[in-house]
Amino acid sequence: MVKKIIECTTRPTKVLIVEDSMTFAGILKRCIKSSLDVESLVFVDYASTEEYLNNNECEFFAALLDINLPDAPNGEVVDLVVGKKIPSIVFTGELSDDLRDIMWAKRIVDYVPKENFGNIEHVINLVDRLRKNINTKVLVVDDSSTSRNLCRALLDVCNFQVIEAVNGQEGLDLVNSDDEIRLVIADHYMPVMDGLTLVKEIRRKFSKSRLPIIGLSGVGGATTSAYFLKAGANDYIHKPFLTEEFYCRVSHNIENSEYITTIKKMSDNDYLTGIYNRRSFFKYGEKLFSQQQRSGATLVAAMIDIDEFKACNDKYGHIIGDEVIKVVADLLNNRFRKGDVVSRFGGEEFCVLCADMKADEIQQVFESVRDDIEKRTIVVGKHEILLTVSIGVCAKTMSSLDEMIEVSDKKLYEAKNKGRNQVCYSA
Ligand code: GH3
Ligand code: MG
Ligand code: MG
Repeated sequence: MVKKIIECTTRPTKVLIVEDSMTFAGILKRCIKSSLDVESLVFVDYASTEEYLNNNECEFFAALLDINLPDAPNGEVVDLVVGKKIPSIVFTGELSDDLRDIMWAKRIVDYVPKENFGNIEHVINLVDRLRKNINTKVLVVDDSSTSRNLCRALLDVCNFQVIEAVNGQEGLDLVNSDDEIRLVIADHYMPVMDGLTLVKEIRRKFSKSRLPIIGLSGVGGATTSAYFLKAGANDYIHKPFLTEEFYCRVSHNIENSEYITTIKKMSDNDYLTGIYNRRSFFKYGEKLFSQQQRSGATLVAAMIDIDEFKACNDKYGHIIGDEVIKVVADLLNNRFRKGDVVSRFGGEEFCVLCADMKADEIQQVFESVRDDIEKRTIVVGKHEILLTVSIGVCAKTMSSLDEMIEVSDKKLYEAKNKGRNQVCYSA
């Protein structure tokens, strides 16, 4: 029989479950769907799994495998699935040291004792990690090709995107040119630039949470570990290491970095609209202000407030009012340039700071923002909502950011008093 060669052309999106207990398979499938919104395909024996994998394009980014199946009692399904390059998590009944070694030698992602249902949460986290790893880039810096190849092979098993460098300088160049790198694994002794120097160089630009680094060395023992950590590495692994330890340290470091990024995002951005909140307006605004002052460039501040918004809430309700605020925030965020600071200052009030705006552009820009909102019909559900905004502009750089806000506020007040739906500028 001629075997079909099946190549993966699309990004895998599903989980493969091979498990003869339908109850357990059903629980796994449901948990994966409800926690991760990911579909699973369930097979109950080796033969049907083999038949399916040989005749279908690969669509699985993870597999959950029972090593004890009616037609394959000794983990044969693990060889089959790992052979198809599907990252595999293995369920074991009881776990002996021998079995553990055999399983790791098969290049699995992890093994999980089956009798403990508390482990399902751990399995879900692993599956989630494997899905995220598809978009997670790791840089391995090592002059030894054996060591590099081992790290690459282990990372490949877990779906990571792996790039390599053969010395510290090459690693540093990659870090500086590729901002998608999420973790660096660095050897110590290397020609051109060693690992400790690489760590110190990376830390001049990237914080521990932005770009975690794991030091890796077989030489120097505890001293090398201490040197790596003091130079700014997040963690250290001594060679030779167990696959299990390697995976734990890699995931911990990537997860910590992701948590911090999420927390930072939550504290910088307004929960409703996703644009900067008042706190980060001042954080990034003060930065932009001093930058513009140093270079003698201009800065313009504007306060933008939705007119009669209370009436909009009264007419359509708060939930629809929230949607309207989101539309206006999106519109402002897309209207201004990347280096400008656009924020939700309070309820239905927005504040923007624009750098390097030419004097003859100012009126045209804010007039077009006002005009755009006036002409737009905002559709929320079955409602078609018309809005206007009033804008107060501080058109020239003052001695402080606070003063610029104060001036824009006064001008906004003036625009409201003059009948709303208009822009007032400071002289
Ligand atoms: P003016 O033209 O003078 O600005 O009148 P206004 O009604 O827009 O201003 P006012 O300050 O009287 O009312 C602002 C309204 O905005 C009242 C408040 O309930 C509403 N608001 C503030 N924050 C939110 C929010 O997050 N969601 C919703 N739906 N409404 C909000
Ligand atoms: Mg070396
Ligand atoms: Mg208002």
